[in-house]
Amino acid sequence: MAQDADAIIVGAGLAGLVAAAELIDAGKKIIVLDQEPEQSLGGQAFWSLGGMFLVDSPEQRRMGIRDSHALALQDWLGTAGFDRAEDRWPWRWAEAYVAFAAGEKRAWLRERGLRFFPVVSWAERGGGSATGHGNSVPRFHLTWGTGPAVLAPFVARVREGERRGLVTFKFRHRVSELIRSGAAVDGVRGDILAPTNVERGRKSSRDVIGAFELKAPAIIVSSGGIGANHALVRQNWPQRLGRAPERMISGVPDHVDGRMLAITEAAGGSIINRDRMWHYVEGIRNWNPIWTDHAIRILPGPSSLWLDARGNRLPVPLYPGFDTLATLQHIMATGYDYSWFVLTRKIIEKEFALSGSEQNPEFNSWRLVIKRVRKGIPDSVRAFMDKGEDFIVEPDLPTLVKRMNALVGGEPLLDLARVEREIVARDRELDNPYGKDGQITAIRAARDYLGDKLVRTAKPHRLLDPAAGPLIAVRLNILTRKTLGGLQTDLDSRVIGVDGRPVPGLYAAGEVAGFGGGGVHGYAALEGTFLGGCIFSGRAAGRAVAASVV
Ligand SMILES: Cc1cc2nc3c(=O)[nH]c(=O)nc-3n(C[C@H](O)[C@H](O)[C@H](O)COP(=O)(O)OP(=O)(O)OC[C@H]3O[C@@H](n4cnc5c(N)ncnc54)[C@H](O)[C@@H]3O)c2cc1C
Repeated sequence: MAQDADAIIVGAGLAGLVAAAELIDAGKKIIVLDQEPEQSLGGQAFWSLGGMFLVDSPEQRRMGIRDSHALALQDWLGTAGFDRAEDRWPWRWAEAYVAFAAGEKRAWLRERGLRFFPVVSWAERGGGSATGHGNSVPRFHLTWGTGPAVLAPFVARVREGERRGLVTFKFRHRVSELIRSGAAVDGVRGDILAPTNVERGRKSSRDVIGAFELKAPAIIVSSGGIGANHALVRQNWPQRLGRAPERMISGVPDHVDGRMLAITEAAGGSIINRDRMWHYVEGIRNWNPIWTDHAIRILPGPSSLWLDARGNRLPVPLYPGFDTLATLQHIMATGYDYSWFVLTRKIIEKEFALSGSEQNPEFNSWRLVIKRVRKGIPDSVRAFMDKGEDFIVEPDLPTLVKRMNALVGGEPLLDLARVEREIVARDRELDNPYGKDGQITAIRAARDYLGDKLVRTAKPHRLLDPAAGPLIAVRLNILTRKTLGGLQTDLDSRVIGVDGRPVPGLYAAGEVAGFGGGGVHGYAALEGTFLGGCIFSGRAAGRAVAASVV
């Protein structure tokens, strides 16, 4: 059969678009397939906050942060905890990716038009030892314009390639098989889905109106993770995190269905680290949902009091924003699928940010950002306080606790006296500028960082101080998001087969490849590393295919 293109890309998310842009630069003819309609071009990255892991950037230096490649690698390896034989490629990817983040990443992105907000955020602080989990310093760089601005240069490049006749987009084309000729993968087969004008991100139909088959010497799979497929998440749930939650909400659109993993495996690709995933514990149900069970993650500052379903304070060092998976493990061990933040108006004003581009329209202009900071509670957070089913706002603790119990229903789990004891004990620790409460110490330490002091960490205060009120309780659900394992790939994004050798013609990039290697993050992530992982592995795939196809 004649070739239809030099390469076929399965999935037009960030990883696929970056690979496509590289191929266009090399003058190759490509077909880009996606099961979603044209209006959803860009996949998850459109909805993302645009947070980017950069090391020793000018933004960090201006904030007084001293970062280095050595420190970042120490943090990455301490967080990843690589300990399996199959971590060989993930480890090599990790070293290459940290070098990229400490090297050319920022300049390469700036050349393409990306700009970063000057206050660098401090995500996943860890809280353990220097060699353990977490970022020793702030590294989360917010892209101006959030997710859509991350996508924009790559979309523009690929659209230009389309005008030049190098790119053919085929939307509503869902791949269900990779074709093999001998050892090599050299084509795709699948279903043509009915056209639809559903809005971007909304669930689209799976009505089949036809079939297709396309051939090319190279196939790049860039189909995303498994986060919207809760059955697959449960099936692969890591035992080390306890039982799988019965109730989860979705931090990703419906198209993140994980189907291509088994399809690629059937064509000879090997999947590793299936049990490594990155789900959040600060999920709130979106009052204005776009996709099924739409969850929004709160990006918390360090001050909220974190209680389990029975009102016990979470143990040290499980403070908001410190250690996502250790907190998830702890919550699952409580026997309940949710936990609570108890906080004040003063804390919510300064410390609550919501992940998602649609929740942060201000990060497009300085005028709007300044307005947001001056205003106190951001509009998007205020909307959740008014309309979100997980938020309770009350001036006094007895009414707050009564409503917390009512929200959950059934036998009341929270005892007012116990909750009050926790809060009063915590508040007493504020009488001196020092003390034994680890969280208060962490809040004070956070404020030693200028960025936190300016915009992310409220001045320590008593939760029961009426001047800081009203009191706020937020029920926090578990939300699915990122897939840390996936198709094993070498540094050229070639998919490794079960025999340990690359499958000829087959490449993978982005989340489906565990962001490179089949699990560049190991067991856990430092945050802001996923978009960059799509860019780095998509670029590697595009370059390698361009070099291999003559
Ligand atoms: C709300 C939100 C906030 C986020 N914030 C950040 C952040 O601040 N920083 C960060 O680093 N990361 C963030 N992320 C994560 C990041 O956006 C994603 O991990 C990344 O965009 C994944 O890109 P991808 O190209 O691998 O896959 P996707 O974006 O999922 O794209 C895959 C594409 O493949 C298509 N596809 C799948 N299967 C098939 C098939 N069989 N046939 C044809 N097409 C198929 C899908 O329709 C989709 O368009 C966030 C994610 C979300 C949802």
